[in-house]
Amino acid sequence: MERGFEYVIVGGGVAAGYAALEFTKRGVSHAQLCIISEEPVAPYERPTLSKKFLHPESPARLPSFHTCVGANEELLTPTWYEEHGIELVLGTRVESVDVGQKTLLTASGETMRYETLIIATGAKALKLEEFGVKGSEAENVCYLRDLADADRLVNVMQSCTGGNAVVIGGGYIAMECAASLVTNKINVTMVFPEAHCMPRLFTPKIASYYEDYYQSKGVKFIRGTILSSFEFDSNGKVTAVNLRDGSQILADMVVVGIGIRPNTSLFEGQLTMEKGGIKVNGKLQTSNDSVYAVGDVAVFPVDLCGRIRRLEHVDSARKTAKHVAAVIMEPEKTGEFKYLPLFYSKAFSFSWRFYGDNAGEVVHFGDYLGTKFGAYWINNGHLVGSFLEGGTEDEFEAIANATQLKPAVDDLAEVGRQGLNFAMTGNKQIKSHTPSIEAGTSSPVVETPIYPWHATAGVAVAASVAAFAYWYGRRRRRW
Ligand SMILES: Cc1cc2nc3c(=O)[nH]c(=O)nc-3n(C[C@H](O)[C@H](O)[C@H](O)COP(=O)(O)OP(=O)(O)OC[C@H]3O[C@@H](n4cnc5c(N)ncnc54)[C@H](O)[C@@H]3O)c2cc1C
Repeated sequence: MERGFEYVIVGGGVAAGYAALEFTKRGVSHAQLCIISEEPVAPYERPTLSKKFLHPESPARLPSFHTCVGANEELLTPTWYEEHGIELVLGTRVESVDVGQKTLLTASGETMRYETLIIATGAKALKLEEFGVKGSEAENVCYLRDLADADRLVNVMQSCTGGNAVVIGGGYIAMECAASLVTNKINVTMVFPEAHCMPRLFTPKIASYYEDYYQSKGVKFIRGTILSSFEFDSNGKVTAVNLRDGSQILADMVVVGIGIRPNTSLFEGQLTMEKGGIKVNGKLQTSNDSVYAVGDVAVFPVDLCGRIRRLEHVDSARKTAKHVAAVIMEPEKTGEFKYLPLFYSKAFSFSWRFYGDNAGEVVHFGDYLGTKFGAYWINNGHLVGSFLEGGTEDEFEAIANATQLKPAVDDLAEVGRQGLNFAMTGNKQIKSHTPSIEAGTSSPVVETPIYPWHATAGVAVAASVAAFAYWYGRRRRRW
């Protein structure tokens, strides 16, 4: 069997869903677009899997968190794809792609031709076996990347109430899972090799805040060592984990969150790769003119950071996807992708966001004994990154805007003293120079708001930069 489509998206995750919506907004016709996904369900908001999906009471279940509800947009159920004439091929792996011939082959034996291909294959969870530890297949060892993993985790969790879980890793999936396990009345020990959790983003001060809270909820931390092997019972279930430092922890279940690897293998040797992903230009185009890449798999230029980056976060998946649809449908009207990196996480009652780049010197601010605090990163005399825990929408918007504008900072101590006011006061000036923004509607499974202001371009941004610079210049003269 052989079919042809003008546009084909390989992968049916977050980016595919957001791209589909944008394609329809920009007038894609019936039978022009096809999405092929290995997963058996239509694109959904993956971050929900480690949050509301694991709640013991009223957990989120599909269809409530299909894309694009996470950005306050339409809920794209399978019916939506049908109504919009988008071919959704589910439960089907793409086995090979020939970018020279513009064809691909699916696991069901179908050959498909395309004019333009969008790679949205995301990433897979790293397995313990890649680090020489055997046991991933045991029935009480869980990973968390897709819906099948999440279903499995819920089942294992429900069979372990009152028991012991060991969480391997200290990144955001591990932290979110640990919080969910505790909420599900399971005793948790976290094991990771670094001195603190979230080492790629958090400073020790920020990390310590969360670790103290987790400890107050009963979570034990074993830092500076790694898993070396498992003990199994006669049924092959893990009963304990052995650590490199010689200690052993009893375990009724294990959750592994040790990172991800982008799904690039279909394109190795065909497209230019860098930083473990598929390299694209500012138009999200790969080294082959007919092929684009978005989401976790794409390595794209981030002006604010002054380098190319691969981001493993939902906001960049959503926004690269929207941008690629614009680039393809309206090439003359669409410029390069300009992006302010946004990372966020939610666990227990915490909710933090980080904007920009965590490079340079750090200035902490706020109440590290209370519930609202943050940090600014200053690199080469400019604000390049901002972190805030417990902010209001206005406060998050203010740190985003301040980071986007990269104001010069020559007195770090003063910025620390001003704390959140540093961003808030500048933001007020900016807002008085920009058009008003309509608030989005709320949704039961909203994970991250998207600020329409970020998309504002040209005159408004120029005016905003001038306003911030004027305000900031005056402040500096007074210091
Ligand atoms: C549990 C969890 C919680 C998260 N929480 C947060 C959070 O709080 N904040 C945040 O910023 N980010 C979070 N993320 C990250 C975020 O979900 C990802 O950045 C985002 O999903 C990336 O979107 P994507 O479309 O690039 O890839 P994905 O959403 O992973 O989609 C890729 C799709 O491609 C399919 N695929 C792969 N290879 C093939 C093939 N050969 N043939 C067919 N289909 C294929 C996959 O099956 C999958 O459906 C979380 C991720 C996980 C797993």
